[in-house]
Amino acid sequence: MNRRAIVKGALGGVVGLTLPPFARSAFSQESPAVVPVSEGFVMLTGAGGNVLVRTASTGQVLVDSGAAAFTDAVLAGLRGLPGGGRATTLFNTHWHREQVGGNLAFGRSEATIIAHEKTRAHLATNYYLQNEDRYEKALPAEARPTVTFFTGDQTLAGDKRIEYGHLLEAHTDGDIYVFFRDANVLAAGDAISPLKDPVLDWFGGGWLGGRVDAQEKLLKLSDEKTRIVPSYGPVVGRAELQAELDMMRELFDRMLDLVRKGMSAQDMLDAGLMKGLNRTLRDPFRFAYDAHKGYWAHHNSLAGNVL
Ligand SMILES: [Zn+2]
Repeated sequence: MNRRAIVKGALGGVVGLTLPPFARSAFSQESPAVVPVSEGFVMLTGAGGNVLVRTASTGQVLVDSGAAAFTDAVLAGLRGLPGGGRATTLFNTHWHREQVGGNLAFGRSEATIIAHEKTRAHLATNYYLQNEDRYEKALPAEARPTVTFFTGDQTLAGDKRIEYGHLLEAHTDGDIYVFFRDANVLAAGDAISPLKDPVLDWFGGGWLGGRVDAQEKLLKLSDEKTRIVPSYGPVVGRAELQAELDMMRELFDRMLDLVRKGMSAQDMLDAGLMKGLNRTLRDPFRFAYDAHKGYWAHHNSLAGNVL
């Protein structure tokens, strides 16, 4: 039983009736925490995926909008920050629901929603979730990205540059980075995963080769002082990005060899796929299975003799 359930069980409906809103949210796991990132930037955590906020009196710029269940809490959190909850621009790093759940509220308040065209396409139609054997419903029109791109582009917030670009197949088919160049803050979505196991949504277009390329791209954009914001977990620096890239490169090379030998994911694990890496995964089979599927989706990239 989680903390919220315990509070509910102990106090019944009384909490909601007698406490002022700030006390009610203090009892709730649904209230995101505000974590400083850099001057003028904070991150709301615990809202599904992280929500990065560039605060400014002229209006806030957000990267991702959290899961739908947390929308009210995210909006409340934003109201308490400079800019008073006026979001002018929202980026979606990809189309997973923990990143776009608040889109409807921001779309209704006429924020510009910027995303990769593949993200818009996913959100505009019912799409199949292979691992759950069900269809995810399209988002309402107001919740969908209003400005899309394929390769990359840039915009201004005040006089500060915001650059954004595609991270081809790093995690899904619609991943992007958002780089606040003047502040040296780089939102990387799920293309870096310092806390949770890296996820390759192979059915949604992600694969290990794409992840390696994407992380090389992120590394080129960054320097020793860059604050890198993932979808999950803490803000990290270049060293953590380099560490995940080293691991992904090593796994790419090992798996390429083992795929050519015709091994299944379990065969690969039994053959020592994960041995001696710089990090231990919580669920190595899940990673190996998804990565393996991704290889077969890209067999034409492996070598002429694979099939
Ligand atoms: Zn994701």
